[in-house]
Formats: sequence, C-alpha cells, structure tokens
Amino acid sequence: MATAASFSASFSENLAAAGRHLARFAAAPVLHLIDGEPVASVSQETFANVSPIDGMHLGDVAAGDSADVAAAAAAARASFEEWSATTGEQRKRILHSVADAIVARAGEIAVVESVDTGQAIRFMSSAALRGAENFRFFADRAPAAADGLALPSADHLNYTSRRAIGPVGVITPWNTPFMLSTWKIAPALAAGCTVVHKPAEWSPLTACLLGEIALDAGLPPGVLNVVHGMGETAGRAVTEHPDISAVAFVGESATGSAIQAQSAATLKRLHFELGGKNPVVVFDDADLDRALDAAVFMIYSLNGERCTSSSRLLVQNSIHDDFTERLAAKLRGICVGHPLDPATVIGPLIHPRHCDKVRSYIELAAAEGATVVAGTGWDDAPAGGNFVAPVLFTGATNDMRIAREEIFGPALTAIAFDDEADAVAIANDTDYGLAAYVWTGDVGRAHRVAGAVDAGMVWVNSQNVRHLPTPFGGTKRSGIGRDGGDWSFDFYMETKNVAVAHGDHPIPQLGG
Ligand code: NAD
Repeated sequence: MATAASFSASFSENLAAAGRHLARFAAAPVLHLIDGEPVASVSQETFANVSPIDGMHLGDVAAGDSADVAAAAAAARASFEEWSATTGEQRKRILHSVADAIVARAGEIAVVESVDTGQAIRFMSSAALRGAENFRFFADRAPAAADGLALPSADHLNYTSRRAIGPVGVITPWNTPFMLSTWKIAPALAAGCTVVHKPAEWSPLTACLLGEIALDAGLPPGVLNVVHGMGETAGRAVTEHPDISAVAFVGESATGSAIQAQSAATLKRLHFELGGKNPVVVFDDADLDRALDAAVFMIYSLNGERCTSSSRLLVQNSIHDDFTERLAAKLRGICVGHPLDPATVIGPLIHPRHCDKVRSYIELAAAEGATVVAGTGWDDAPAGGNFVAPVLFTGATNDMRIAREEIFGPALTAIAFDDEADAVAIANDTDYGLAAYVWTGDVGRAHRVAGAVDAGMVWVNSQNVRHLPTPFGGTKRSGIGRDGGDWSFDFYMETKNVAVAHGDHPIPQLGG
C-alpha cells in the first residue's frame, strides 16, 4: 500500500510544484476520457479554464455536448457486462490500486485542485487523501455488495440479492471536486456500475487526473469515462441519455429540480446532494471554547464553499454578545491569501460570478439591517483574483435573506434565540435540511434538539467529522437519498427477491 506524500511543503515549494503540474494543462487542451482514450469533442469546441487567483488562463478544456456523451454512454454500456461480472474480489483489488495511485500522486492532486478551485492547500492536501480513503472504503465492501437477506415464510424461502443497476452518470460541483467525485465514483465502481462523469466546468482539472490515475491503476477502458463541458449541454445530455440508468448529482437545489425534469422521460433513478443553510445551535451551557472553534472552522474553512458549512449561528441570548465578540476577534485573525501558501485559510472564491454573488450578500446584509463585521482582507491580492474578506453578520433575524439563502462563501449569519423551543423553531424555519450542529452540556437537551431538528445529519458537540459507514444526505431542498456505507450500494444496485416454494402451498385451480 502506498503511503501518504508529505504536505509540509513551503509556499515557494508549492508554487514550484504548481508550475510543474499545471504546465501540461496550459500546453494542450484537457480532453474527454472515452473508452480509455483521451479525445477531443466531436464538435472540436473548447472552453477556457481561468485561475481564481489572478484570472490567468490555465488552459482550454474540451467542451462536450450530446455527441460526446453518446460516445461515453456507449463505452460505459459496452463495458458494463464485463465489469459487473468481474468478481467483487477483483474489483476490490483494482480499486485499492486506484487508491494507491491517488496517494502516490496526492501532492500533485492537491496543488492542481488548489489552483483550479482557489481552496487553500492546507485543506486540499487532506482532501486528496480522503479521495483515496473513499476508494479503499468501498473497495473493501465490493465482495459483499451483491449479498442479500434470507426472508423465510411458512411456504417459501425468499432471498434477496443485488446487482449493479447499469451505467450511471455522476455530475459534480466545483467546491471540492476531487474528493466529492470519488465519493460518488468509488461506490459506483465497487458495485459493478460503469460511469460517465461530468465534472464542473469551473474546476475540471482533477477529474482529468482521476480518469488517468484509474486507467493507469488497471481499471479497464470504458469503465470510467469523463466528459467535460457545460451543465446545460454535457450535463443535460447525461441526464437524458437512455443508456444511463441512474444519475448521482451534487450541486445546487435549483439544478436538482432541473435534472429531475430532464430525466423524467428516461425514468432514471436519481440521487441528489444539494444546498444547505445549516444551523449551529449554541446553548449557554455548552463548552463555549470548543463551540467557538467549531463554529469558526465550519464556516471559514474551504472558503465557506461547503454544503455542510454552519452558515447560521443560533446563539442563546444570555451569551450572544460575548460569543459573537469572541467570534469577531477570531475572524480578524483568519488569513486570506494565496491558496498555495500554507498559512492561508481563505483563498480566492471559485469564479468572478460567484464572488459577485457573495459580495452582494455583504451589501444586502447592511440593507436588511444586520451589522456587518468584516474580517481582514489580503492587501497584496493579485488583480483579477476573486478574493473576499470573511464576514460575520450580527443582529440578524431568520426572515432576512442572509439567513434564508445559501451564500456559499465565508459569511456567517448570527441570530439570537431565547430557549430550546425557540432554537428548534428557528433551526427548522428554512427550506433546507442538510446538516445541523448542536452545542450543549445537557445530555437530555442534546437528544431532544437532535431529534427535533429537521436535517439529514446532526452533529452534537462536534464539528463535521465524517465516518464513512454513516448515511450522508439531506431533507427538504437539501437532497433526495443517502449515501455512505451500504446506502451507496442501494442506490447503485437493483435488489431482486427470489421466492422458492418448499411446501404445498395452496394454488387456486381455475378452469375446471
Ligand atoms: P451547480 O448545480 O451549478 O452545478 C453542479 C454540476 O451540475 C456542474 O457539473 C454543472 O455543470 C452541472 N449542471 C448544471 N446545470 C445542469 C443541468 N441542467 N443538467 C445537468 N447538469 C447540470 O452547483 P455548483 O455551483 O457547481 O456547486 C455548488 C452547490 O453544490 C451548492 O449549492 C452546494 O451546497 C452544493 N453542494 C452540495 C453538496 C452536498 O453533499 N449536499 C456537496 C457539495 C456541494
């Protein structure tokens, strides 16, 4: 098993590594991966990939459309029979090889992801390794993925088994693209599915690395195909293609609605991981030092571009002023900077359009009557970069747009509450239901609030620590379905029941 690369590199070493690893993307367009071959779009069209750090042109990327998706779907369909028929043990071996190869290239993945997305290297280094962990986790479960249950009745032995559903589409967003795509692709491959992956157009580079790593590690050609392009063209084509049996989608709630409509004609199975406006509820009996660290970490890490970010801070009235003042002090110490600088916490946001959106909420907050506490920006930020200082909005109420809409940036909205009932009511007064965080020293209250909050995942006295066997997903506009553990296999596989009579059960005799 390969061991983790070292991530103690200095800023200058990271810059040098980025120069080495990104040169290939500037020299030649990023191509699709179809049936094991890098190919240009049928149309020959490309789109420009631009750095969030300074607006520099990182290179061109093949712009796929329905013709390229058709070729990828044909490859995925053609390779499905053989891949789904390989033994679970064989799939396990290959997927562990993929994990080894990810670890071996984790340093490269981290710097490429950091430059392509603007996410700070301190977080991206572990994101690459988490991608390997995702592969290992589902690899180990591949041999038992088809296993079912014995459900005997008086006259019959019923038994279930599972088989891969078919070629699947995986459509991913730009915030932590490498880790997120492995979270979808690894279980699909372990289940025996073949994949057409459509990565986000704002961060296409590490999807290209994953395709190439998987192929080099022994995944047969056609089992993992990658088609780059816009959501409205390449993404839409994945959701409409009749040879694709299911689509696992991670992205915005509005895109999820569109995909549900687009895939209706071909009756696809869908899995959605969508947006959030997640509350972190801090009671006055909590360990306030730990609650403070967790609240800060869960909104200001990963540029706040994180579906499970604790973007609404609900804090009990009795401690509100003290807690938000301490939070503001920490905010001022958060370092905005170049994403490859190990000291940086907040790098540039992904795209000028997204940056404008986040900035618009800062203006809106003041107009809505909240107080804007600004963090420290980066004086030396390069022109053309998408840098924003982190912000805290205090004095907010839950009816304000800054409390209701997903900002998806380093912006935290603080709202005061009176008591437990008030906290639960505010926490649930939202269109979303992905995650919630509860901080209290009262064990009874912890269970009551965790039970009453309408969210797919609740962390008590904890930041977002993931345990891969547990279910991940949201309620309301935050998603449909769960993955993690066996939930992932349930999505990527069909369950069959076989009933075998073992006695003379009554058979109605018709026709004389
Ligand atoms: P997005 O919905 O704009 O795009 C996601 C992907 O969908 C991209 O690959 C895009 O090209 C594609 N797409 C867009 N329109 C499409 C269409 N009509 N048909 C098919 N594909 C289409 O999302 P984004 O801006 O890239 O990502 C940010 C969002 O993702 C946030 O809302 C965030 O909360 C969410 N997210 C959720 C989770 C989760 O696990 N719940 C994790 C990460 C991000």
